[in-house]
Amino acid sequence: MRKELLKTVKRVVIKIGSRVLTDSNGALDMAVIGIICGEISLLRQKGLEVIVVSSGAIAAGRSELGLTYKPRTIPHKQAAAAVGQTRLMQAYESSLAPHKLKAAQVLLTSEDLGSRQRFLNARATLDTLLGFGIIPIINENDTVVVDEIKFGDNDNLSALVTNVAEAHLLLILTDIEGLYSADPNTHPDAKLIPLVKGISRDIERAAGGSNSSVGTGGMATKVAAAKKAGKNGIATIMVSGKRDGIIVAALEGEEVGTLFLPSDIGLNRRKHWIAYTLRPSGKITVDDGAKNALLKKGKSLLPSGVVQVEGRFERGACIRLCGSDGVEFARGLSDYSSAESIRLVGCKSSEIEGILGYHYGDVIIHRDNLVLL
Ligand code: GLU
Repeated sequence: MRKELLKTVKRVVIKIGSRVLTDSNGALDMAVIGIICGEISLLRQKGLEVIVVSSGAIAAGRSELGLTYKPRTIPHKQAAAAVGQTRLMQAYESSLAPHKLKAAQVLLTSEDLGSRQRFLNARATLDTLLGFGIIPIINENDTVVVDEIKFGDNDNLSALVTNVAEAHLLLILTDIEGLYSADPNTHPDAKLIPLVKGISRDIERAAGGSNSSVGTGGMATKVAAAKKAGKNGIATIMVSGKRDGIIVAALEGEEVGTLFLPSDIGLNRRKHWIAYTLRPSGKITVDDGAKNALLKKGKSLLPSGVVQVEGRFERGACIRLCGSDGVEFARGLSDYSSAESIRLVGCKSSEIEGILGYHYGDVIIHRDNLVLL
């Protein structure tokens, strides 16, 4: 199930909390940032677009200002953030550089995203940066925020950014494995909840409050962020950012952390995305029997119904499905590449392994990844 969902993710927002980015002294943990940037580079190589929402400015500034305590007054926090934000960007720049990646700093306030014009400007800028292959690193513009124009915490900001950027997944990196049935610090028998289908009161209760000396959010703000992203049809995965390889594992659909599924509107939005957002990179012509099974019986597309494969595409690509009259009637994500699909034309599902020497499943396009037009 996770793997299916993750296959459709092309653009991801990764939210990294202060607790992940700092060491036990509250200073930026360059080793952790290095590992995270290495994983971002692996995602880029897989063709994913990555946007980072990073905390850590206040924490970095605090050690820079020589403060041994968490700044409490607003001007202290703002001063710490101003000093720390440049340190934070330096840390990302120097850790992305070995992977030939560049960072861009984007600072936002909630007032910015509340105005349609600024919202659209932010969207256009993010799109353009991603087009250049740059990694946008977003934080709240702490220098100018007062309560009325504050996101409050970067969990909330990250949920809004997934919407601005029209991302397909929010990945929250925090300092514990995921959402537990109770606070694991005080309840040793608390259990990790791998899947949250809907954010009920019980789930909100399990999330409780925050008790950390760095960062402003706790579990409650993370669950609230997942809820907000879910309303826009976006799934959230929460994992421990302190574990090597966790980002890639999460994006590959491994059962790590907690997956929050979006509400039903989500599915519609995903289908909307397959039908209207993705640019098809190939065409598959099917016979009348297959067309009928897809249109009337809710079936998946089997290789036996495929007549012709055109275009060059990778596994997971968006494909136009046409009948023998040449008219497109559906779109879907292909489980096999064009080269593989050509070899499978007209064969039985049971023959796939014999022909390719391996198989990814019995269907060329699974029903869940298919939209009738
Ligand atoms: N903007 C703050 C910072 O960079 C973090 C806020 C938060 O962690 O939620 O330090």
